[in-house]
Amino acid sequence: MTESDTPGLLARIRHSLAPYEAEEPLAASFRAQQLQAMLRLTPLSMLVNLFNASFILYRMADQAQWLWGWLLVLVFFAFQGLAAWYRVQRRGMRSTASRKAMQRALQHALILGALWGALPALLLSEVSLQDQHMLLIICCGMICAGGFALVTVPAAANAYVLAMAAGSMIGLLHTDLPGAEILVCLLLVYSVVVVASVQVMAKSYGSRLVAEADAAHKQQIVGLLLRDFEENSSDFLWELAPSGQLGHASGRLNRALQFDPQRDAALGLAALIGRTYEAAAVAPDHAIGYLEKLQKALSTPMPFRDLLVPVVIHGTLRWWALTAKPVEAPGQDAPGWRGVGADVTDRKHAEDEMHRLAHFDALTGLANRRHFQHRLQQLCGHDGSPPGSAALLCIDMDNFKRVNDAYGHANGDLLLKAVAQRMTSTIRGRDLVARLGGDEFAILLDGVTQVDEARCFADRLMQAIEQPCDLSGISFTPHTSMGIAFLPRDGQRPDTILHHADLALYEAKTRGRRQAQFFSLAMDQKAQRRIALEDGLRHALAQNAMHLVYQPQISLRSHHITGVEALLRWSSPHFGHVSPAEFIPIAEEAGLIRDIGLWVLETACNAAQQLPAGLLMAVNLSACQFDDALLVDKILEVVARSGVPAQRLELEITESVFLRDTEDVLTALHRLRAAGMRIALDDFGTGYSSLAYLRSFPFNKLKIDRAFVMAIHQSPESEAIVRSVIDLASALHMETTAEGIETADEAALLTQLACTTGQGYHFARPMALDAVQALLQDAP
Ligand code: C2E
Ligand code: MG
Ligand code: MG
Repeated sequence: MTESDTPGLLARIRHSLAPYEAEEPLAASFRAQQLQAMLRLTPLSMLVNLFNASFILYRMADQAQWLWGWLLVLVFFAFQGLAAWYRVQRRGMRSTASRKAMQRALQHALILGALWGALPALLLSEVSLQDQHMLLIICCGMICAGGFALVTVPAAANAYVLAMAAGSMIGLLHTDLPGAEILVCLLLVYSVVVVASVQVMAKSYGSRLVAEADAAHKQQIVGLLLRDFEENSSDFLWELAPSGQLGHASGRLNRALQFDPQRDAALGLAALIGRTYEAAAVAPDHAIGYLEKLQKALSTPMPFRDLLVPVVIHGTLRWWALTAKPVEAPGQDAPGWRGVGADVTDRKHAEDEMHRLAHFDALTGLANRRHFQHRLQQLCGHDGSPPGSAALLCIDMDNFKRVNDAYGHANGDLLLKAVAQRMTSTIRGRDLVARLGGDEFAILLDGVTQVDEARCFADRLMQAIEQPCDLSGISFTPHTSMGIAFLPRDGQRPDTILHHADLALYEAKTRGRRQAQFFSLAMDQKAQRRIALEDGLRHALAQNAMHLVYQPQISLRSHHITGVEALLRWSSPHFGHVSPAEFIPIAEEAGLIRDIGLWVLETACNAAQQLPAGLLMAVNLSACQFDDALLVDKILEVVARSGVPAQRLELEITESVFLRDTEDVLTALHRLRAAGMRIALDDFGTGYSSLAYLRSFPFNKLKIDRAFVMAIHQSPESEAIVRSVIDLASALHMETTAEGIETADEAALLTQLACTTGQGYHFARPMALDAVQALLQDAP
């Protein structure tokens, strides 16, 4: 063993003997507790000391006079111990104790141990055998009792025990007692056992001190945190007694609920919260429902989390989230509750806003498509709820694009808002009105299954909507078209019923708008045929499977053929002959008409090259072709490529082109006219027949629709219309062509009315190019 090892070893021994490990100042407080525990037993210990000493003196003073002196010294130290105890009693124990205080305790124990050890060491060999026994028994008892009385200060206990044991052993070795050596050994073992027991008990006492200090420390931290929580956060703690009464609660909660323990003893938490609504001018929506939920949660002994309740504090609505768990109360049937609450108003507002954005249209405030779909799914029983019945109205504003284009998007928005508001004011509480996008709306009339009822509502709705709106000073009256389908009769799935209402809307649009149509199976079949036709048209265009026929136009004065109108024909192996009246609108909608139109123009130009130079070639242009900004360039290019003089071409347009951007259309028409082409207004009288169109553009020709020609003999009104159209045209220096002349009488009357040319089965049907050539050859 080296020198440097020695302090290390000692430290290790001291460390293993120490009852605990602690740093100052914790160690100082432990020392105070050790001393206090020891002092608690001091009066009893000193009494035992004095009693035993008096007994020994009584028995053995005659054999050893010095015992009186010994007694005096013992009494002195016993009183010192008692004085220390008394001091603590009087002024209370300090919370800390120095190492010196421990040392003093150790010294005191050592002195007592030495005093008692001196007794057997000096006396044992002097007294009678009987007294020897008595003395040894007392010493053993004192070793044990002293060891345990001092156990909380193990160093003192050990010093006392070892000093006494040493004295007793010395005394034994000086006697002539038979087997004294064996007794010494036994005493040694006995002392070691006492020391070891002291050590074990001291360790366990030490761990208790550490545990208690640890718990106190934790409690202090928890206390601090709680105080900080209550003072600085918006959260609060609450406690309910099994009787339901509010117990410990944060000041914040008490203030919010204006809780007075005396006055409100009988009120439960839900009642206290409910009381805040009374003072509020407006009770929060569904407040009672929230309170019922809270009451229900408190009536079942199950923890709950983030239960939302509205509270009115200082006249403003706040939202609390309550979390709590039941606390069993001995002897009570119902549990008490302990929980926390948080003011989650901001979060609730943010969530509400998110919900609003997700379910409602930002412009009109109506339900959005998602919300609508959800409700429709509910009605179809797709979310597990029993399926219901309803009438579904798909509503589209007529010509909304024109409002946007003419008055600007801000006014378009104003109009949408006004229409939305009118819709909302027409429906009942259980119905739903939604904006599906753009100018598309939908209404679900809950429980409506009868056509009459739905029609009645549609009429009322249309009336409500068709009121003038003020769009930044301009008065505008909106119109709508509606399609109606019934759930479950017309479809049991959300997409089917919506599709069917859409088909009915489409029908309403094609039948001239501003009306409501009910879905019928025929519409579905028609729609399916449309899709199939659209597909067929694409193939026909790609495979050049369409052709043109030409219908002659005859001068009613000279009876010569003055021109032909090119008419498109499509015969498909699948659909047979399909009328252009059916497939042209489909091509228009599918966006195929641009390519078809150019193909027709090119084919007609090539055909014109094979006809006499004086003949006009009339070609129909669809209104949709005017959406193409490059239309005029394309036409000019085709005509130039074919080599036909532009003057031989007559382009037929219908009034519907003026539903588009009139400025653009007029510019295009002027460019075409400037290039030498003639422009005819087809089907005059069937469309909007606004004289404004006639004024705005110098048409070369008006084509009087077949509908008037057909009725010319039957109705005087038709004759009057035809007559005035011809007069008007001639006043504006325009020619006229009567379409669909089927009889000689019609031809005669129209000749008499001074119509320029005629076209119809009476003269010739539309025919192939070679047939036109043959006809021309036969003509006089
Ligand atoms: P539209 O331009 O008014 O053409 C006249 C229509 O009346 C033609 O029908 C013609 O066959 C028919 N018609 C002529 N005379 C008589 C008659 O005496 N009695 C009866 N009942 N009908 C007569 P079609 O060829 O079926 O064309 C229908 C419509 O389809 C055309 O009306 C036109 O708007 C459109 N269309 C035809 N070809 C084309 C084309 O190449 N391009 C465009 N954009 N539209 C076309
Ligand atoms: Mg035509
Ligand atoms: Mg026509």
